[in-house]
Amino acid sequence: MQDFSFSARQREEYFGRLSQEEFDILVIGGGITGAGIALDAASRGLRVALVEKNDFAWGTSSRSTKLIHGGLRYLKQLEIRLVREVGLERAIVHHNARHVVLPERMLLPIVEGGSLGKMMSSLGLWVYDYLANVEKEERRKMLSKVETEAAEPLLRTDILKAGGLYYEYRTDDARLTIETLKTAVAHGAVALNYCQATAFDFAQDVDNGDISRTTARDTISQKDYIIKSKYVVNAAGPWVDTLRAIDAEGVQGKRLHLTKGVHIVVPRERLNLAQSAYFDVLPDKRMCFAIPRLGVTYIGTTDTNYTGDVNSPQAEYADVAYILEATNAMFPDVKLTANDVISTWAGLRPLVHQDGKSPSELSRKDEIFVSTSGLISIAGGKLTGYRKMAERVVDLVCKKMKRSRICLTANLRVAGADFDSSEEFEQFLNLRAQSLKDLGIAPAAVIALGQRYGSNLDWIIEKAYALSAETESRADAFLLAEIEYAAAFEMVQTLSDFLIRRTGRLYFERPAISQNYPHIAELMAKTLAWSPSQKAEYLQDFEAEFARVMAWQEIEK
Ligand code: FAD
Repeated sequence: MQDFSFSARQREEYFGRLSQEEFDILVIGGGITGAGIALDAASRGLRVALVEKNDFAWGTSSRSTKLIHGGLRYLKQLEIRLVREVGLERAIVHHNARHVVLPERMLLPIVEGGSLGKMMSSLGLWVYDYLANVEKEERRKMLSKVETEAAEPLLRTDILKAGGLYYEYRTDDARLTIETLKTAVAHGAVALNYCQATAFDFAQDVDNGDISRTTARDTISQKDYIIKSKYVVNAAGPWVDTLRAIDAEGVQGKRLHLTKGVHIVVPRERLNLAQSAYFDVLPDKRMCFAIPRLGVTYIGTTDTNYTGDVNSPQAEYADVAYILEATNAMFPDVKLTANDVISTWAGLRPLVHQDGKSPSELSRKDEIFVSTSGLISIAGGKLTGYRKMAERVVDLVCKKMKRSRICLTANLRVAGADFDSSEEFEQFLNLRAQSLKDLGIAPAAVIALGQRYGSNLDWIIEKAYALSAETESRADAFLLAEIEYAAAFEMVQTLSDFLIRRTGRLYFERPAISQNYPHIAELMAKTLAWSPSQKAEYLQDFEAEFARVMAWQEIEK
């Protein structure tokens, strides 16, 4: 089932490879952009290394709206090429990652004073279906006012004119990133988290100006390593300019423009929507998503200029108030208050600056900049378009290397995605849920695990059986098996890695983990042989994250 190693216990070995081998490409940044590039390059047979200064998906790629979407709103901005490309990509990403990219029915209420009228919404959704080549059963369906009310009884009715039903895809951004990276590693890439690129060496190949050596620091052991590569790709997301600043020419020409986006999470019973909704925020003509997911509904996002510390964006009271107000305006009987919010997250969009444009007007198109010393930087773009962005970057590298190797990722499934259709995946989940129900494991828990690990759920089930003699309960055996899996195949290092990027528990199950995170830390400490000081450090770090997602409450006081 698993024929590659990506184990936290083999870090030393991977650092050995990193410093001894010579790579075609060194990718800096382990978000979705870097992971996509690593997979594309490794699957074309290039020798690839990737370094990430924190955990994989630690940056924007764990803090998005978690949709693989065609970008309906970009149609309004007449970004037709972008809508077409991301629309087509949606289908490809869904096919290649069926367990982590799931079809999501979306309701678009059409209201008086909203950004799109009935005609324009109908036309817009039709064009969207056409551009994105949407499959017949997922094409848009326009609804009358009465039908829209029936589809979503919580909607405000006085300004409601009609509605549209269409499909997007819901993902878990961090899981998609990690599954992509695992697949890159299975194709031979070396990838390390907690490894920060700190300097470039330009002296080795003065003639053609290429950066041939990069210094990277293992931020756990504080040891420096020298990595030799023909090309260096800067996929550092919001840190793209920070990295460009240590390149020979510094930041010249185009530069990043960071905007912050916040999401709030409320218990499902406080906003129990019949399906996801994409609704108008009436005062400022923006739009928000409300997305039910397991026991919660998450809502967002905001879009505001950001000039604070790139390493620690967080929700402010005003962000939360904005989202609550927007939600209450569209679903008035719900009357959400700040007390309903159980978690939040805040991410930074690494957009390319355009003079005179407001945050929401800035293009989401990706751009590649190549510096005189050969540093290839990629900025802008979206989670949805990561595969195509990677293809463009690797095409460029192949051209420079004078190698004609075609991109293979359009038909390359990521780890865990061994399913030919959504039906097959559903059947897989139902069978596992049914058989584990008899052992006292709730079907919802099995489905959550299946949507995290796909076909690799079977490894976890087998491990849980094997561990059940040494654990107090079946649930504990599953938890321990999940930690084992994360350690052996997903390079989990810390408690936060597990509770945020590997499983999303901080965002979606915060009340539950407030009780059991010390127990999880205990299990991880044993599994990963943490020293007492490591355990204390990782607990402290997680407690800071746990508090940070709700720190906006303090800001109000
Ligand atoms: P990141 O994920 O930030 O990765 C960059 C990584 O580089 C970081 O992990 C960082 O630690 C690392 N790094 C930086 N410097 C160094 C260094 N010196 N050495 C080593 N590593 C380094 N897109 C969609 O398609 N759908 C959506 O629903 C969606 N919603 C969004 C909502 C919000 C609020 C935001 C902010 C964005 C959203 N996006 C969405 C856009 C999408 O999330 C981003 O385009 C994407 O995640 C960017 O990924 P990235 O890999 O470029 O950057």
